[in-house]
Amino acid sequence: MKKTIRLSIHWLILGLLTFAMLGTYTGSVISSVVVSKNNLEKNYLIENQYYAQKLAAVTDSLFDNMIKNLTMEARNEELLTNDSRKIHKELDFILQSTTYFNSTFFADKTGRVVASAPDMDLNGTKLTSVGVKSSLEKKVPIISKPYVGVTGKLIMLISVPVFDESGSYKGFLAGTIYLHEDNSLIQVLGQHPKHKNNSYVYVVDSEGNIIYHPDKSRINDNVKENKVVQHVLEGRNGNLEVTNTKGISMLAGYASVTSTSKWGIVSQTPKESVMEPTFEMARQVSLIAILFMLFVFALSLIMLKKIVNPIRNLAFYANQMTTEPSRPAPQIPNWYFELKELKRAILIAVDFYQTKLTNAESESNLDPLTGFYNRRFLERKINDYNMYSIILFDIDHFKAVNDQFGHQTGDEVLKFLSELVKRETRASDLCFRIGGEEFLIILPETDIHITKSVAERIRKTTECTLSPTGKPITVSMGISSFPAAADSFSELMNKTDQALYKAKQEGRNRVVTAVYNKEGRL
Ligand code: GH3
Ligand code: MG
Ligand code: MG
Repeated sequence: MKKTIRLSIHWLILGLLTFAMLGTYTGSVISSVVVSKNNLEKNYLIENQYYAQKLAAVTDSLFDNMIKNLTMEARNEELLTNDSRKIHKELDFILQSTTYFNSTFFADKTGRVVASAPDMDLNGTKLTSVGVKSSLEKKVPIISKPYVGVTGKLIMLISVPVFDESGSYKGFLAGTIYLHEDNSLIQVLGQHPKHKNNSYVYVVDSEGNIIYHPDKSRINDNVKENKVVQHVLEGRNGNLEVTNTKGISMLAGYASVTSTSKWGIVSQTPKESVMEPTFEMARQVSLIAILFMLFVFALSLIMLKKIVNPIRNLAFYANQMTTEPSRPAPQIPNWYFELKELKRAILIAVDFYQTKLTNAESESNLDPLTGFYNRRFLERKINDYNMYSIILFDIDHFKAVNDQFGHQTGDEVLKFLSELVKRETRASDLCFRIGGEEFLIILPETDIHITKSVAERIRKTTECTLSPTGKPITVSMGISSFPAAADSFSELMNKTDQALYKAKQEGRNRVVTAVYNKEGRL
C-alpha cells in the first residue's frame, strides 16, 4: 500500500522557502564565481598585454640610451691614443657610471681587444664572435643577437663605431650585457608588478631563444613552438590563452621590441591565479548573501506564522467541529480575504447542515398526521423521567367511522382529536400516537389524581365536541403512574393497557385506573 506522507502546511512552506533560498544562494554564488572568473581572465590578458607593451617600450628606450651613452663616449679622444691603460680607465668609467653593461671593451678595426673593463686579460686577443663581426662589417651602432662570448657567457653586445677626426674607422666601443647576470636590462624585465600571483615575463630573440626568464636555467632554450612566441615573432602585439611547456594554462600578453631585431616580450599569469581572487570574492558574496538570507528567512518566518497560523486554526476548528461543537470559531484577520471567505463558507455550511439535521431529527420523531410524537421517540424519551403518569386511550368504534365516512374522514377525526388533546394538556405533557387510533400522554411529575382529572376532562370534551363526522366521538382511557404502579415502563404499559381494555369492556367512553398490585394499593 502506498504510504501517504503528511506534511503540515507549516513545514511545506518552510521547506519551499528553504529550497528557494538555497537555490538563490547557490545560483548567486555560482554566477558571481563564473562572472568574476571570466572578468579576471579577460583583465589579466589585457593587463599582461599592456605590461608587455610597456616593457617593450622601456626596453626600446633602454637600448636607445645605451647606444647614446656609448656614442657619446666614442667621441672621447683617449680611445684614439692606443694607450691601453688610459682606455681601460675610460672603459671603467663607462662601466661604473651606469648599470647598463656587465663589461665594456674597445677593439681596433681588426677586431683585436685594446682594453677591457673589468680587465679580462684579453688585450691583443682577436675577437671573432658574431657580435664583433657585424660591428666591424657594418660600422654602425649595433645591438647584437644573444650569443656565447669568449668568456663563455651568454651575452649581447651593444657597440658603436669609433672614428678619428678625419673620419677614418678606428674600431668600436662595446658594452656587453650578460644575460645571466644583473644589469639594467635584467632589472627592467625582472620587476613584474604581479609577481605575487606567479606572473612573470620572459623575452625571446628573433629565433625564439629565451633571452630573459626569471628561471635562469630556461635562458637560451628555444621556444618557437609556443603559439605566443610565434605571434610575437611576427611582430604582433596581443593576448592569448596558451599552455606552456610545463602544461600549465597561461593568460599571456605579448609585444615586440622594435629596436632590436624582432625581440618578443611575453608577460603571463597562470590561469590558476585567477581562482584565488575568485574564491575570495565568492567568500565575500556568500557572507553577504548568508546574512541577507538569514534576515529574509527570519522575516519570512514571521510572515509565515501570520499566514499559516490562521489556516491551521481554521483546519483544527473544522476537524474538531463535530467532536467539540462548543469550540468557538477562530478569529481570522481582516486582511486575510480568502480565509475569511472560507471561514464564512464553513460556518454557513455547518449552519445549513445543522438545521437540516435538526429538522430531519425532529421529523423522524413526529407522526406526520397528528404532529404528536411517535413510538420511536417514546422509547428514547421515557427513561428521562423518574416520576410521571400516563393516559393511554383509544377511539371507540373507530372502525365504524371509517366504514361510514371513509378513510379520509377517519384521518380528519384523528387530526381533530389530536388538536383537542393538545388544547386540553399542559405544555410539559408529551403526546404520542402509538398506534392507528391509540394515543398516549405522559404527564411528568404528576400524581394519579391529577392525571385522572386531566383524562376525564379530555374524555368529556371529546364527548361534547362535534368531530369531522358531524357527530362527537368518544374515547376509552386507561391511566396509571410510575413508579407507584410498576417497576418498569413496559410493566406500566401492560397494566394501563389492561385498564383501557377494562374501560372498553365496561362500556367505553370512560376512564379506568390501572390496578396497583404494589404495596397493596389500588
Ligand atoms: P373499539 O371501540 O373496540 O376500539 O372499536 P374499533 O372499531 O375502534 O376497533 P379497533 O380499535 O380494533 O379498530 C381500529 C380501526 O382503526 C381499524 C382501522 O381501520 C382504523 N385505523 C387504524 N389506523 C387508522 C388511520 O390511520 N386512519 C384511519 N382512517 N383509520 C385507521
Ligand atoms: Mg384500537
Ligand atoms: Mg378503537
